[in-house]
Amino acid sequence: KWMGLNEIREKYLEFFESKGHLRLPSFSLIPKDDNSLLLINSGMAPMKKYFTGEVTPPRRRVTTCQKCIRTGDIENVGITDRHGTFFEMLGNFSFGDYFKHEAIAWAWEFCTKVMEMPEDRLWVTIYLDDDEAFDIWTKEIGVSPDHIVRLGKEDNFWEHGSGPCGPCSEIYFDRGPEHGCGKPTCGVSCDCDRYVEFWNVVFSQFNCDGHGHYPPMEHPNIDTGMGLDRLACIMQNVDNMFLVDTAQNIMKTIGSIAHVEYGKDKQADISLRVITDHTRAATFMIGDGVMPSNEGRGYVLRRLLRRAARHGRLLGVHEPFLAKVAESVIHENKGAYPELEEKEAMILKLISVEEESFSRTIDQGSQLLDDIIAQNKDKVISGDDAFKLSDTYGFPIDLTKEIAAEHDMTVDEDTFQKRMQEQKERARAARKNAGADAWAGESDLLESVPETEFHGYTEKTVQAKVV
Ligand code: ATP
Ligand code: MG
Ligand code: MG
Ligand code: MG
Repeated sequence: KWMGLNEIREKYLEFFESKGHLRLPSFSLIPKDDNSLLLINSGMAPMKKYFTGEVTPPRRRVTTCQKCIRTGDIENVGITDRHGTFFEMLGNFSFGDYFKHEAIAWAWEFCTKVMEMPEDRLWVTIYLDDDEAFDIWTKEIGVSPDHIVRLGKEDNFWEHGSGPCGPCSEIYFDRGPEHGCGKPTCGVSCDCDRYVEFWNVVFSQFNCDGHGHYPPMEHPNIDTGMGLDRLACIMQNVDNMFLVDTAQNIMKTIGSIAHVEYGKDKQADISLRVITDHTRAATFMIGDGVMPSNEGRGYVLRRLLRRAARHGRLLGVHEPFLAKVAESVIHENKGAYPELEEKEAMILKLISVEEESFSRTIDQGSQLLDDIIAQNKDKVISGDDAFKLSDTYGFPIDLTKEIAAEHDMTVDEDTFQKRMQEQKERARAARKNAGADAWAGESDLLESVPETEFHGYTEKTVQAKVV
């Protein structure tokens, strides 16, 4: 049954209110008193202290819809149907109150009764030896054992060093073979987009001592994460999360600026999705007080905006346009997130300024590159020049390579990579000195937003840039 994203959010929160949960608003994307995390990446992250008991929760049952950022998923955006750097995670939480039986039963009730999902399309995963969960799913709920898959630690055991941890059980929706890879081995643990994981129910039942001992906790917790964008994608029966009603309107704004229509060209579709995602992430980040800078959160923001701007150029847009996209992000989300409207003027201003300054650097870089090409005799752009273009002017290596190729030149990529590596190590050392062990568990985050991971400049854009 088709259901709008805003309606699904409300239905979820209402459902868990009816089960005695207190509804809390989303926490900020900026973690509070927690430097183990750069940006809030799940519903439970801002509530860690309720789980550990350091802070008493306002009620032992809480439900939220949490804004999340996962920059680690940046490479997936536009490629898979189900990953964004920004998304909303619905969740129900038990701080030492109810446990497995209720958590499983309510998740199933919500899926099958409230969302009316057909049971035969649903699949469940459990942790290898979690027979308790298996019995609940099969005997209490009546799920057929052949729709239950046991997975190992990587997928179905939740653990961060020492402290509360435990197995989880996830719910998947089978979108049908037309979304799949077609391999005979295709199933819930396949990387393709046929079986979409949309709900993770974590049973926080052990207190790990960090040395391999897992004594059970006296008052185990429940923490669940349900991807709103993914559920909406399923309920609206659309191909990917950027075609969901609210996101689609943002994409349409981009399409009308760039004069492109979604679904006509694969490469353009990727750009449309990337711009939608990154601008949405940036808008929410600025709304929560992140400012563009060269480090930490500000650096993530800057990368997202630059990547969005570059994809705009790919679509043939040469005027600053991201503020207009952000306006549409705010329009689509202000109902659920009024802070966006309150900060609208500032958000639009910051995005314009950032985009304009980036577009100036790109133009300067083009000039430098023209000079390098004009003066070059051996038909090779040195690794040092390529690095300078990337580091100072924000030129992704792929762009440098394509422009070089147009002049029958190549790029000394080995040296370039060496310079990048050296820079990474310097940055890492600097972070260490700054006491930023905060990055633990997320240390790949910055590394995963390099300026070089940009794919596929089309000829059109390259020329446009060189000119
Ligand atoms: P996946 O395996 O698909 O990357 P995950 O296992 O990393 O997802 P969890 O950490 O279990 O995801 O988060 C709980 C839920 O949040 C997921 O089941 C999914 O519905 C949603 N979710 C996670 N990452 C994203 C993302 N990048 N974009 C949209 N929704 C997401
Ligand atoms: Mg993931
Ligand atoms: Mg997963
Ligand atoms: Mg998961």
